[in-house]
Amino acid sequence: MGSKRFGNAFIYLIIFVAVIAIFFTLFSSGDSAEETDLTTILSMAKTEQISKIVVDRDRLLVTPRTTPDRLLVATKEPGTSIFDILAAAGIDPAEKSIQIEVKTSGGLGSVFGVLIQFLPLIFFGAILLFMMRQAQGSNNQTLGFGKSKARVFSGNRPTVTFGDVAGIDESKAELQEIVEFLKYPERFLSLGAHIPKGVLMVGPPGTGKTLLSRAVAGEAGVPFFSISGSEFVEMFVGVGAARVRDLFDQAKRNAPAIVFVDEIDAVGRHRGAGLGGGHDEREQTLNQILVEMDGFDTSTNVIVIAATNRPDILDPALLRPGRFDRRVVLDLPDINGRAAILKVHSTGKPLDDDVDLDVVAHQTPGFSGADLANLVNEAAILAARREKKTVGIDELLESIDRVTLGPERRSRVISQHEKEIVAYHEGGHALVGHLLEHADPVQKISIVSRGMAAGYTKSMPIEDHLFYSKPQLMDRIAMALGGRAAEEITFGQVTTGASNDLEQVTQMARAMVTRYGMGAEDLPRTFGKRDDLIFLGREIAEQRDYSEKVAQDIDDQVKSIIEDAHTTAKRLLTEQYAKLVQIARHLIAHETVEGRDLEKLFGSDAPPLDHTALAPA
Ligand code: ADP
Ligand code: MG
Ligand code: ZN
Repeated sequence: MGSKRFGNAFIYLIIFVAVIAIFFTLFSSGDSAEETDLTTILSMAKTEQISKIVVDRDRLLVTPRTTPDRLLVATKEPGTSIFDILAAAGIDPAEKSIQIEVKTSGGLGSVFGVLIQFLPLIFFGAILLFMMRQAQGSNNQTLGFGKSKARVFSGNRPTVTFGDVAGIDESKAELQEIVEFLKYPERFLSLGAHIPKGVLMVGPPGTGKTLLSRAVAGEAGVPFFSISGSEFVEMFVGVGAARVRDLFDQAKRNAPAIVFVDEIDAVGRHRGAGLGGGHDEREQTLNQILVEMDGFDTSTNVIVIAATNRPDILDPALLRPGRFDRRVVLDLPDINGRAAILKVHSTGKPLDDDVDLDVVAHQTPGFSGADLANLVNEAAILAARREKKTVGIDELLESIDRVTLGPERRSRVISQHEKEIVAYHEGGHALVGHLLEHADPVQKISIVSRGMAAGYTKSMPIEDHLFYSKPQLMDRIAMALGGRAAEEITFGQVTTGASNDLEQVTQMARAMVTRYGMGAEDLPRTFGKRDDLIFLGREIAEQRDYSEKVAQDIDDQVKSIIEDAHTTAKRLLTEQYAKLVQIARHLIAHETVEGRDLEKLFGSDAPPLDHTALAPA
């Protein structure tokens, strides 16, 4: 950034020099003076041919009496006075009525003269400096390490407003208060209220934490200083702390302002917690943040907004009153929220008239705001590639799969036999899902590989799930095992293709026993303590709070859940084997089936098994 700004200055300098050069050339060619020598001048003076002599240092600008527009120029010896010269030649200026004018240096011409003299020097100096800065560019960070990388956005004030944030109305309402603090601090101060210093935005990635923070600044019309926690973790100890100081200095100078610390968990991790070691740098940075926040007096109108998806690992010191004592939780949007977000992101993108965004919202449970933004964008790209003028529902629905699983990989070559395996596998998931009462209805089956998946079966709840009942979980597990069961029945053996299913199955079954009290005895307790939240989809470590014997018991219960589900899946597929064959053949012929075709496929009577069908092993 530094060298870029300097590059600009360099260009301006060149332009400046060029302008001066042009100006000077014009200027000097303007007085078309004729060069002559001193002797000529003196003899002219004697014969009263001269009306005026202008002395500009050692140059004499002479105006002849008869032709005053044809100036003459002569040079005298440096240091001698014109009066001395005239006197030595026996000329009395007054007698010959010669007007003498002495210019002290500083006239326009002489300024240019000096400039012109120094121009090469300036020029080379500039080039030298420029090159030095370039060379520094690479380790600029080392030299300017105390300076924060905090950026001030779009002319200091973000243009994002609450109107650009959809589907999280409760969070917006909570932040409305912050906007008012920033806009009318006197109102609160006059009542002796303390303005909150810190707001912690908590939510999974892509739910709009950054967006909403910028919108607060945009609504209040205050500058937004942003830095990411991971940027603090730099090369030298103490740099992070210096950065924090610098960042807050900047913000205080521009108050009212917002300081946004993204990924605060990178520095605000529980101090002394074994994970990641006692990183000195991080602790110092965190301490500096706390010091700065404590240092605000009541009139400092700077509000710190921090974002994290790991509130559980934050140091308690950050969360006590007077620091980040306000929490705004951003959840994944529900169906209405998703529709609203889709609407925000499709403004400016021409949609077909018959596009119903509710349909898309319905098919995207679990999508974050960022996923939805991405989906609309993918759909627009797809429409452009299809050379359409508007974005249709086809592109939107296609983009759902693109966003979740990755783009289709039609070019991937698979053998006919593998295609059959995938068709039976996906057919198995779909048929089990279709037959089970509590499983989510199947929406689409495809054996076109996407991303990592060789094929996929998409099932969707009628409404978003907030909770799952035990039968629903059991049916989900059975459906997840349907793929493997179909392979077993049809080919008499299994492939590695089901490994992802098995992982899910194990996780679900284990969670039923250890977290939801849905094991064999429906004992209302949990087993083990997690260092993590479920919505983050990651588990770091589990602390055992039960005995060896219970551990054995848990394993047994998990096993029995999975066995039950597996038996169910196998039974259904054996009973409806003709149907499975029909679905698999349809998939081999058409690759993808969804919507009406899928309903027809499920609803029709399966043709009787003929001798070419793969018989159950
Ligand atoms: P986070 O900081 O929580 O990871 P971001 O604020 O960076 O998420 O969101 C990324 C993008 O997703 C935003 O720039 C925006 O385009 C979109 N987005 C996320 N949530 C919303 C929302 N509630 N309304 C509109 N757009 C959203
Ligand atoms: Mg973010
Ligand atoms: Zn599968």
